[in-house]
Amino acid sequence: MNGPAMNEQANELARRLSAETGGEVLFDAAARGRYATDASIYQIMPVGVFVPTSSADVATAIAVARSTGTPVLARGGGSSQCGQTTGAALVIDTSKHLRRVLRVDADAAIAEVEPGIVLDELNAQLRPHGLWFPVDVSTSAQATLGGMAGNNSCGSRSIAYGNMVHNVLGIAAWLGDGSEVSFGPVDRLGARERSIAEMVRGLALAHRDEIDAHWPKVLRRVGGYNLDIFHPQSERPYTNDGSVNLAHLLVGSEGTLAFTRSLRLKLAPLPRARVLGVVNFPTFHAAMDAAQHIVKLGPSAVELVDRTMIELSRANPAFRPTIEAALVGAPDAILLVEFSGDDRADLLRRLRALVELMGELRLPDSVVEMTADAPQKALWDVRKAGLNIMMSLKGDGKPVSFIEDCAVPLEHLAEYTAALTEVFRKHGSRGTWYAHASVGTLHVRPILDMRRDGAQKMRAIAEEAAVLVRKFKGAYSGEHGDGLCRGEWITWQFGPRLNDAFRAIKQHLDPGNVLNPGRIVDPPQMDDARLFRFAPGYKTIPLTPVFDWSAWNVQNDPATETTTPPGSGGDGTGGFAKAVEMCNNNGHCRKFDAGTMCPSFRVTRDEQHLTRGRANTLRLALSGQLGAEALTGDAVRDALDLCVGCKGCRRDCPTGVDMAKMKLEVLAQRRRIHGRGSFGDALIARLPDYARLASSVPWLMNLRDRVPGLARLSEKLSGLSARRSLPRWRRDTFARRAPSLGLASRESALSAAKSAVLFVDTFNGTFESENAVAALRVLQAAGYTVHAAGANDADGQGALCCGRTYLAAGRADEAKAKAGQLLAALLPFVQRGIAIVGLEPSCLLTLRDEMLAMGLGADAALLAEHALLFEEFLAREAHCGRFAPALKPATRPMRVHGHCHQKAFGAVQPVLEVLRLIPGAEVSLIESSCCGMAGSFGYEASHHAISMQMAELGLLPAVRAAPDALIVADGTSCRHQIADGAGREALHVARVLADHLLSPAS
Ligand SMILES: Cc1cc2nc3c(=O)[nH]c(=O)nc-3n(C[C@H](O)[C@H](O)[C@H](O)COP(=O)(O)OP(=O)(O)OC[C@H]3O[C@@H](n4cnc5c(N)ncnc54)[C@H](O)[C@@H]3O)c2cc1C
Ligand code: SF4
Ligand code: SF4
Repeated sequence: MNGPAMNEQANELARRLSAETGGEVLFDAAARGRYATDASIYQIMPVGVFVPTSSADVATAIAVARSTGTPVLARGGGSSQCGQTTGAALVIDTSKHLRRVLRVDADAAIAEVEPGIVLDELNAQLRPHGLWFPVDVSTSAQATLGGMAGNNSCGSRSIAYGNMVHNVLGIAAWLGDGSEVSFGPVDRLGARERSIAEMVRGLALAHRDEIDAHWPKVLRRVGGYNLDIFHPQSERPYTNDGSVNLAHLLVGSEGTLAFTRSLRLKLAPLPRARVLGVVNFPTFHAAMDAAQHIVKLGPSAVELVDRTMIELSRANPAFRPTIEAALVGAPDAILLVEFSGDDRADLLRRLRALVELMGELRLPDSVVEMTADAPQKALWDVRKAGLNIMMSLKGDGKPVSFIEDCAVPLEHLAEYTAALTEVFRKHGSRGTWYAHASVGTLHVRPILDMRRDGAQKMRAIAEEAAVLVRKFKGAYSGEHGDGLCRGEWITWQFGPRLNDAFRAIKQHLDPGNVLNPGRIVDPPQMDDARLFRFAPGYKTIPLTPVFDWSAWNVQNDPATETTTPPGSGGDGTGGFAKAVEMCNNNGHCRKFDAGTMCPSFRVTRDEQHLTRGRANTLRLALSGQLGAEALTGDAVRDALDLCVGCKGCRRDCPTGVDMAKMKLEVLAQRRRIHGRGSFGDALIARLPDYARLASSVPWLMNLRDRVPGLARLSEKLSGLSARRSLPRWRRDTFARRAPSLGLASRESALSAAKSAVLFVDTFNGTFESENAVAALRVLQAAGYTVHAAGANDADGQGALCCGRTYLAAGRADEAKAKAGQLLAALLPFVQRGIAIVGLEPSCLLTLRDEMLAMGLGADAALLAEHALLFEEFLAREAHCGRFAPALKPATRPMRVHGHCHQKAFGAVQPVLEVLRLIPGAEVSLIESSCCGMAGSFGYEASHHAISMQMAELGLLPAVRAAPDALIVADGTSCRHQIADGAGREALHVARVLADHLLSPAS
């Protein structure tokens, strides 16, 4: 279809969807671009995106799409690795609204669910019944049941529970012609379904010899259609009683045969206990060889961690103790062997059997036994983190997933991995091996540069891997599906006659070729560069970035993974584009469990308001795919609008996508193009400049919240919500109180034996000076000579400030000037090793983060090294015996809310540590994402509602649930949000400690 005809078709489709459904109709270029990729190397622009609110919407959308000649592509989390979730179609995203558990029959251990529900959400709802759905994919926090069925997904414990196909009991779906079908056991089918079953049975019978000859016999085979349901070839039967279930034909069909409306699932009892044996091997080969013997002991998982991963984990101070506790000497590989069940004594017996087995295999004393839950969980977390570090390789060469889940029989695993390692070496790359040794599916990703010679190498490696898979009678597609990168290998795997049989199935169920065309049947070539996200010739717009992104502007060596020096990567955007391109679309940011990332998605469930969606929008803008000026245009502005700059992604994203900093870059670029911001922006940005003057007339400044109607008027002028009270101005600022506080001069602090500089930010200094005073008292009581800098201008430094309020308004130049002044004032102290101690996480941590990207040189790095939050400083000093204050016992339990930036920098633990210095203190952490206030975000009228929703996700309910507890929150905006939303006062940790001092300093 040519361009204008395509547009006409899309317009008609969009018009009718808007008129005939209640769903969201997203047809603009940026929205389509956000759905053009999955976690593969491919990118295909969809015709449009539809987010249905009900099953009826889906039915209508399929009908409308068919009548306009548009294909339909079902989508869940979009975390597929092979390109099966990309296509020039109407993409229908079920993950936002179609996510109900429809029924749980706990006695029969069966659940019925809508396709968009995420596995972790389902399992959370099943937990009270003592049940779970045990196909525990690594992406359990984002994979939907519809997508898992689409891919025939497999979990780490598949050796115990099987793949999706072994755990799906029934599927209700729409066919491409819009008719509804209900697939289940063949002896209970309706007329239409029975005729489909008969057709498939006929094909299966006619191809019985071919199936016997060509079908891989391993458990992990997910390629092609499951034509073997009538004559199962899997190591594990598809049903308990050997009967045939027609729903299994749809499992693994990648949305090409039917659109799932609901699934009936087989549940399993939650095991009451787990024990882990970590087996240490002197060689990788020995580990691979041992797997076949270990599985005979009946483990629920056998997972590999190779030497590279071990070393990566060891290099990380946070993980070193955990990984080292699992090691015996310096192994080349370890296998994590898990036994799970209800009878703990039996599990311990099996663990003993593992130890004995290793003795028999001449590896005595090689097993570290972990029987407690905590170390086991810590070790599983380390395994995941190791993979994340590997994925964060900077430069254009990336670990590419295309042969990463070939499965071979266990007896050949050692030989297969050795031979494939040799193949990588031949092509100038190498692979890091990990994952499912129990079922012969080891993940490995050679590093390829798709913008240069990656496609050629990919084909060469794929062909050589295929020879090995055939030699060892394995499955080429063993976990992640066929999609675009393995579609062409289906004929190779099954032979032309079975491929024709697959085509006949497709033709029978979807004669109009409406559903995800070109996947499984008639797929394109895997190396068709027109389908690549980064094809040869990929270009970005020229851009002079405001911040220093040179750390990303590098290239890497695929064999050694070493990178070239910062700034040498040839990126015309100075590294900004390459930082954005670090997002590989794995979808990890679509999570709702622990951690911060991503509060705006947690509230909206919109791809647009997700870290991944934002990174994709930026990537498209930076590569000119949204038009020449897109970076400073509306699509990018809208995608970043609800990003609260919490830095959750900086820490939680496996590849370290730092959207908070990217937003600052875009804001600064926008200001360059569009000039002055709004009055409200200026009001916030320039607060540090006018705070001193304004605080001298508090009665005037506070009128807005006192005189009826003024707040509403000011909302019109400033954009600040009338529903918010603003911080209260007062005369007793820290600067005015300073003369009576016993502060040390610069000179005395510089010469004292035990000194610290208290960095008093504008917020604590102006609106809550009691916090700064409390911090001072604690430090003085512990014998520190304290000099104050910041909102204190007692010794003529003026109001020093980190520049954060300017950054948030895109005023990068003013922010840099402020940061420069601060650096000049603090440099003499840090040059003498004196700590700069701050109270407000977002201000103090600016010294450790944004200031390093402002071109301030090595001095800024020195300052960053010495910039510590109050609690970090005290925890450090307590560890080395320099801080041991006399404290009164606690009278109330304490619940701590961590500021997002504290979490991003791993600085929450010190809050707990120092509070626990108080005798009898019962301290616990509130499990929360962002409070929703996030600087000025929550004050803005346009964001008030979303801000409150963010707070209601976890923080406010937790505060309300602890009426007797002392609420501790170090963030100024967090305290305001708690006061506004729960009517409770929260205290800075400094005040809590000061209140417990036995003999306060003067
Ligand atoms: C880091 C990482 C780790 C992974 N680990 C694993 C792992 O341990 N095990 C594993 O098996 N996979 C793994 N995967 C692959 C992927 O996460 C899984 O296959 C997952 O189950 C896909 O779920 P999804 O909701 O993202 O599906 P999507 O990618 O959205 O869709 C998958 C397929 O199902 C189809 N589909 C979706 N919804 C429907 C519907 N309603 N009706 C019909 N068809 C539908 C789609 O068209 C597509 O073809 C991993 C991926 C990544 C990035
Ligand atoms: S932003 Fe990070 S977590 Fe989200 S998809 Fe991209 S790489 Fe994954
Ligand atoms: S900074 Fe926070 S809100 Fe913004 S993308 Fe990252 S996690 Fe989401």
